[in-house]
Amino acid sequence: MQKLKNYINGQLAEPIAKSYIDNYSPANGKVYSLIPDSDEKDVELAYAAAAAAFKSWSVTPKETRSYYLLKIADLIEQKLDVLAAAESKDNGKPFKLAKRVDIPRAAANFRFYGTGILHFSAQSHAMENSAINYTLKQPVGVAACISPWNLPLYLFSWKIAPALAAGCTVVAKPSEVTPMTAFLLSEICIEAGLPPGVLNIVHGLGPKVGNAMVSHPNIPLISFTGGTATGKHIASIAAPMFKKLSLELGGKNPNIIFADCNYEDMLSTTLNSSFSNQGQICLCGSRIFVERPLYERFRNDFVAQTKRMKVGDPSKEDTRIGAIVSKGHFDKILSYIDLAKQEGGNVLCGGKSFNPGGELSEGYYIEPTIIEGLDFKCRTNQEEIFGPVVTITPFDTEEEALMMANSTTYGLASMVWTENLTRAHRMANAIHAGIVWINCWLLRDLRTPFGGVKASGVGREGGFEALDFFTEPKNVCVKLN
Ligand code: NAD
Repeated sequence: MQKLKNYINGQLAEPIAKSYIDNYSPANGKVYSLIPDSDEKDVELAYAAAAAAFKSWSVTPKETRSYYLLKIADLIEQKLDVLAAAESKDNGKPFKLAKRVDIPRAAANFRFYGTGILHFSAQSHAMENSAINYTLKQPVGVAACISPWNLPLYLFSWKIAPALAAGCTVVAKPSEVTPMTAFLLSEICIEAGLPPGVLNIVHGLGPKVGNAMVSHPNIPLISFTGGTATGKHIASIAAPMFKKLSLELGGKNPNIIFADCNYEDMLSTTLNSSFSNQGQICLCGSRIFVERPLYERFRNDFVAQTKRMKVGDPSKEDTRIGAIVSKGHFDKILSYIDLAKQEGGNVLCGGKSFNPGGELSEGYYIEPTIIEGLDFKCRTNQEEIFGPVVTITPFDTEEEALMMANSTTYGLASMVWTENLTRAHRMANAIHAGIVWINCWLLRDLRTPFGGVKASGVGREGGFEALDFFTEPKNVCVKLN
């Protein structure tokens, strides 16, 4: 059985304790590889390598840093099929989706920051004839980058690329649920000739490896994407140590549909925004609010089209819904469907697990599920489920839609469907969220600020915001006379 390795100081290494965790393929529920069960000793080695490398990487010309990032991007693109197959096997997502979205985006992240750093600049502030101030943006130090399982290489690289571009060195931890493409990335970095210690990847459990990274006294900044509860825990460790913190957390995103929308566009996009990646995208719209005159038509068409979505083997071309990432998450989603029923919800389609049979009969599949008849304040409508489960709720006025949309503790993304221009802008202005998509979903320009409000996070990724995060501005004031 394949044993994955850590990537420390430019080399692949076994965990010091030589202990491993099982890695499951969600498509068939079988163990297919072993993940290093690293601990704080491995983190210490990785930190030492990163700290030593920081001395030279932080003063390496940006053109050279750019060269390595672009080289890594090229290699990811060259290995598109291998990486997409690995991502699909590790995560359960359809191969087609990994090939179209996850892996190209990982390459794009490296390319974006490999070129972005060449345009990164700082301001100066003149005080007429008396002095001039200029700002230096200096890499902060060794960065801890921790990512989740839903978009494994996509989100891992979304942190690593700006950190390296900015001149930080990195100790990174992918999710223990989906470690495979991070391991393949370490091989790519070796092939690209990335100098030793610049990027270090330590595999293992959150409470062990993640915690050691977060509480390390000499790691001054943490970029984290994951659940809100984990984010809260990390913040409680980082805040008294005055660490720089970027937290991208959970969501419970509203999808608000007005009767005057472009119906066909809305319907096909809503199928994707509800169920892509088995609903396991932090940006999926899990609460769908529909203006009452359109409600019945929408419900009937949405349910009919959802029933036609093919659930099953992630490697098949026509599969729309693959496997849920893990047995634990599969059980959690099913428990929320039970809760929805207890809360009075009416399951219009799905609502149960699915068995594709044969080789895949032990896999973790759930039919795409639509529930109506729930109060907007109930737990099903307030807590993040993070699976192929959406609720639909009618509304009568713009104010009511807004009130329900803003009623959760989260505020990550939102969608508004309307052809009324002023209403679209009015809604965008009033929604509590870091992202508002008007008549679209998941349309991403990497230059834009990305992140959430309230319990969805602190700080922004994307564009120059990420380069700002990984650098510390220093004002230099020069007296002229
Ligand atoms: P998680 O919080 O369980 O784990 C995320 C990462 O944190 C993993 O690598 C894990 O090992 C690590 N971790 C766990 N405990 C830790 C600890 N004590 N100290 C340090 N690290 C620790 O989240 P998950 O289940 O992997 O991912 C799903 C969640 O991520 C959902 O809530 C989803 O909304 C969120 N998410 C948010 C965004 C965003 O951009 N806002 C994007 C994707 C996913």
